[in-house]
Formats: sequence, C-alpha cells, structure tokens
Amino acid sequence: MRLGQILKKSIKRFLPESFLESLIYVRRRLISPVRIIEAYRGNAIIDVMVICVGQRCNFRCRDCGNMAPYSPKNHGSYPIEEMKEDVNMLFQHIRGIKSIQIQGGEPFLYEHLGELLDYLGGYSAFIDNIYIASNGSILPKEEILESMVRNHIGLRISDYGISHEKAKEVRRICEKQGIHVRYYEFAEGDAMWYRMGRPDDTYSPDENISKRFFFCAYRTCLTLENGRLYHCSRAYNAHYVQNFAEKKKDYVDLRQTKELRKKIAHYLTFTTYMEACRYCNGSHHAPRELAAAQMEKQ
Ligand code: SF4
Repeated sequence: MRLGQILKKSIKRFLPESFLESLIYVRRRLISPVRIIEAYRGNAIIDVMVICVGQRCNFRCRDCGNMAPYSPKNHGSYPIEEMKEDVNMLFQHIRGIKSIQIQGGEPFLYEHLGELLDYLGGYSAFIDNIYIASNGSILPKEEILESMVRNHIGLRISDYGISHEKAKEVRRICEKQGIHVRYYEFAEGDAMWYRMGRPDDTYSPDENISKRFFFCAYRTCLTLENGRLYHCSRAYNAHYVQNFAEKKKDYVDLRQTKELRKKIAHYLTFTTYMEACRYCNGSHHAPRELAAAQMEKQ
C-alpha cells in the first residue's frame, strides 16, 4: 500500500466523518485565482465536456441519469447546424477542451453523427481526445467508422448484458479499424447505478443542496445540450421532465452572445448548484439500483 493511502486510511480512522466531509466541501469550493483570470481572458481549459446529440435511445433504462426515456419528443435529436454553431461559439471564448464525450440517448441513432464528428475534427488542435459513449447495441455505419478513423475518435461501450453479443461485435469491428475502444462490462445482476431520481420520486427538500452538488460525482460533467452549457448532463432534460423552473445562474445560453466570455468564465469558475439538484439525489447518498434495468416498451 502506498504511503498516501496509508495516511488517508489513518486520517479517516481518527477524524470524525462530519469533519472530513466539511474539509472536502471547503476544498471543492476553493477556486484558483489563476484559473479565474485565465477564464476571464478567454483562456479557460475545460477538462471534460459532454455533447448531447439528443435523447433518442433504443433502451428504456428506468434509472437513466439523463431521464432519456421520459424526454419530450422534440428532445430526440438536435439540429446539426445549431450544434455546429454552438461548438463554434464556445471555442471563440475558451482555449481548449481536454476530453469530449459525445452522448445521447444513443449517439449511433443520431442521423447527423458523421457530420458532427467531421466538424469536431476541424477543432483537433484545441481538443485532446473525443469519445462516443454507446450502449453497444448498434453497429455504426461505414461512413461513421470512416469519420471516427479520420478524426481519431474513440468509442466507449457500456455493455449492460442486454445486447452482449452485439456489443462484442461493435468492439471487434472498431478495433479492426484501429479505433480505440474502452469497454465497460456491466454483468447483469450485480452492476449498480445510482438512483438519481425518476419523474415520480420525491426528494429531501431540507438537505443542504449546495453540499449535494459539491459531493456529486457528476458535477464536473460539463454538458452542452441544445445551445446551453450545464454542470451535468441531467439538468437540461430534467427541467422539462420534472417540470421545475430554472434560474438564470443554472446554465449559460450560448445563443445569447452578449458578454458571453464573461458568462462562460463565471460559470466555469464560480460554480454553484443548479435548481436541478433539488430534484435529484446526486451520487453521494443516492440509493443504488440495478444498472440499465429496462421498463416495458411503449
Ligand atoms: S445533484 Fe446536481 S450535479 Fe449531481 S447529477 Fe443531480 S442535478 Fe447533476
């Protein structure tokens, strides 16, 4: 065991849990002044960003973190020209992104995926890596594979056991083309998700929402969806599904260009919870549920 791990274990044993939590909370709220200055100068570097192409999916996971199966119909897939314009607008106000994850719903159902990949490929000097996150149930079309190869785009497969053979086939085909694949096998029956909340769930209104946010594992999954930036990939869709009012501070609207650099810089640095966090269990104390448990087909 490394020295750091031994120290961590000893500290955990001797300090009360609540004190440790407070320390972590304060630590997560600290902001580096350099980071703030660079962000306001348009030099922010985003660690991870999700681009959501739409909520259409061929699975119906009851505990989908993004609430995809409960989505309004018009969230199925977003117009490609608007998505390209949003990406373009964002890159005018930041320096780069380390990792982009293209996500749905199921991204291989998105009819303009190839066009989006080629467009993102044009920003390769400002993006370290791009991945598509798929449930592994759909074989990508030839033109998509070509675009992935051309633009050095990888694939992340979550194999929930629902279409296990297909997931293996997708992996084999991609790897044969030289596409980098990360394969996550969720054996049905023992892999668990967080139950962040279904539409008819109730949530604890008295809980400290700021703490729920700062202890949530997903608060750093900055997400671009339908022209807006959110701290996580649940918030945009959730506000329609759960029918709550958002506040202006919850997101940045990339289609309202006035003082956009300032708004992006503020959002990335002076981070705070969103109204969506009030209607979500977060990940810290959320109950666990079977991963990708399916609802009846409609
Ligand atoms: S607690 Fe907030 S940040 Fe975490 S998943 Fe829920 S809405 Fe997103």
